[in-house]
Amino acid sequence: MRIPAAALDALRQARHVVALTGSGASAESGVPTFRDAQTGLWAQYNPLDLATPEAFLEDPALIWRWYRWRRELVAQAKPNAGHFALAALAERVPRLTLITQNVDGLHQRAGSDKVIEFHGNLFTERCFSEGIVVTDADHEAEVPKCSACGGMLRPGVVWFGEAIPETALEAATAATADCDLFLSIGTSSVVWPAAGLAAAARANNAVVIEINPDVTPQSGQSHFCLQGKSGEILPELLDYLTL
Ligand code: NAD
Repeated sequence: MRIPAAALDALRQARHVVALTGSGASAESGVPTFRDAQTGLWAQYNPLDLATPEAFLEDPALIWRWYRWRRELVAQAKPNAGHFALAALAERVPRLTLITQNVDGLHQRAGSDKVIEFHGNLFTERCFSEGIVVTDADHEAEVPKCSACGGMLRPGVVWFGEAIPETALEAATAATADCDLFLSIGTSSVVWPAAGLAAAARANNAVVIEINPDVTPQSGQSHFCLQGKSGEILPELLDYLTL
């Protein structure tokens, strides 16, 4: 696509870039977004109804089956050109902070380090009642139990309606307040508080660039909307910095 010269200039001049990614950033790796219709085994379920503490309490075995299926799907997926471009971008700008709403670990597998995982990680477990992260889960059990209290273990992700881990929220808020360029990539911008970060950056005079094939509630608030796939547009932005 033709990227506006002013957007490219903002990138070239940026002192601190914050990139916020959503599930669209992993779509080209074959990991479905939550707004895509599910296919196959899970076609009858809406992911937005499965990713809640209420759904877990109602049927923990069902939720664990869904998360095991997602773990297998992600384990087979590979980082795409967008993940690799973001990892490379960190080497080309003075400072880059990567905040992801994704729980799939694909940024890390593409070589990004110090990723702020806003919504946790799919491959971890926490005690449902105490919240502590555990490392000795019995992966054979239908619903694994906490070895300390005997309560149920849950996937270590943040479900709808739950608070963001404090360290992730603080780090993301501080980086957003400091950045001069904010990239909103592959996110529907409807899940809070992540959806508020771009507006906070803009209020602090950062340039906001959205990368998404669709229009989102963030589009009208962005200085530039690059309409297309992140696996295509991010490599183009990177190429520009290499010229
Ligand atoms: P979302 O599912 O609400 O929205 C996805 C967005 O990605 C849409 O706006 C869509 O237009 C856009 N998109 C689709 N294909 C794209 C592409 N190739 N390039 C760029 N953009 C593309 O996702 P969300 O905003 O991240 O919110 C849902 C929550 O679900 C997330 O917070 C996350 O925790 C969780 N989730 C994570 C994963 C994952 O880890 N891969 C997958 C599904 C959901």
